[in-house]
Amino acid sequence: ADPSVQLPELLGSPLLDLRSSSALPLPPALYLDEHGRGRANSTGADLTAPAQRAPLQAALDSVRIEAVPEATAAEVDAAMQRLQAGFANWNGKPVTQRAIILRRAANALDARLAEFCALLVKEAFKTQADCVAEVREAVDFLRYYADIAEQDPALMQGRGVFVCISPWNFPLAIFAGQVAAALVAGNTVAAKPAEQTPFVALKMVELLHEAGVPADALLHLHGAGETVGAGLVAHAHTAGVCFTGSTVVAQIINKALAAKPNSPIPLIAETGGLNAMVVDSTALPEQVIDAVVQSAFRSAGQRCSALRLLCVQDSIADGVVEMLKGALQQLWVGKPEQLATDVGPVIDDEAHANIGRHVERLKRDAKLIGEAPVRDLLPRQIRPVAFEIERIQQLGEEIFGPVLHVVRFKDSVDEVIADINRLGYGLTLGIQTRIDSRAQRLADEARIGNVYVNRNIIGAVVGVQPFGGEGLSGTGPKAGGPDYLRRFAAEPRLDAPA
Ligand code: GLU
Repeated sequence: ADPSVQLPELLGSPLLDLRSSSALPLPPALYLDEHGRGRANSTGADLTAPAQRAPLQAALDSVRIEAVPEATAAEVDAAMQRLQAGFANWNGKPVTQRAIILRRAANALDARLAEFCALLVKEAFKTQADCVAEVREAVDFLRYYADIAEQDPALMQGRGVFVCISPWNFPLAIFAGQVAAALVAGNTVAAKPAEQTPFVALKMVELLHEAGVPADALLHLHGAGETVGAGLVAHAHTAGVCFTGSTVVAQIINKALAAKPNSPIPLIAETGGLNAMVVDSTALPEQVIDAVVQSAFRSAGQRCSALRLLCVQDSIADGVVEMLKGALQQLWVGKPEQLATDVGPVIDDEAHANIGRHVERLKRDAKLIGEAPVRDLLPRQIRPVAFEIERIQQLGEEIFGPVLHVVRFKDSVDEVIADINRLGYGLTLGIQTRIDSRAQRLADEARIGNVYVNRNIIGAVVGVQPFGGEGLSGTGPKAGGPDYLRRFAAEPRLDAPA
């Protein structure tokens, strides 16, 4: 039985301003991971601070997104031939030299923070806070993989040409992270960004070339997954694939690789999630709401780490639901280039239609808790919304948008974790409780890659919170963690002297 915990008197008005709640005595926020050793997220100008707005405004005024031509099948083949020919030279360089080039690229990217933020606003409609965090994450990936590679220089032999296929939701950070990992391990890289966001990726490739990556070690190939992506995966020179995107596409790639005469070919896949947060009766509702709003609605819910399912113990559920309703009313849904905006538009019409259909279905089949108002009317906006559903099992596939499902549970927190495990995904999980032993036990029981206690469940920090899932959520190793590079590198030779 739970020790009885006195909740402070802070439920107050459901329209409480979350931004003023930092004076409250919060239970400690923890991240549970096997490593825990780390380094800080890269520092740099915070362009969202008032004094630093000028460079960002100047970049927003001057940066233009240009059309990028799609690669033809012949161009895909020519690129793979070129990368295969460039492999010996790049892989023959000492690891330190490859690491120096990545660090040079990191410094250049740091110096061009405003420009890359503006690219992210214009090509991916990211909010300013998201843009700053994303550029920093990209800088961190470059520096972190440079450091890790130098720790094990003997193991950093490339496999050949690596195909890196990245998503539109982190068109800079995940793109740069994949490419940096593959390069520093000694591979040459065919980089295929998501078809929605080729331009920021092209700019990153140019930056890497300027920093010293040879032209025949890294090529940018734009096009649809079904054509360019499939062509790269199927190519005879492909020695490994790194993919971040949907579980379904990861399965398609896996099958295509398995059918090749030179299989097995390594696939590093980071895919979707049906991420939950479990809130027991001892949790602090203020903190829960703050974490829920960040996790479910930031980035318009377009993160694979985002919260989809909030499981609240019955005895505090009414209060939490009431506060959630109030918090939704305060969200600013508007233009990504305005600082006030919490939630911008979703990536494209197809995403808009998909999420819209799901919301319409829930409006018929579930109980609406609340929906955020729209402040500036723009195309492809989805109003952040929360619904109450009866059972966890009602959750279908991952809906990649700002839609939260809330479910109540009566007694057993362990039963809830068992239900979450049965969903088959295993990316992120939040636990909100003031009982330490319970947090630890649930984290142990959950088959989930990243578990967060009494905080939000997004924004894993490179080097501190390695990120990656289990089950349907991915193959591992975790990105931004010490083991990631091993899978990009060739297996150590069996006959090599110990
Ligand atoms: N690493 C990101 C986070 O922790 C999520 C990456 C993704 O959405 O693919 O929020």
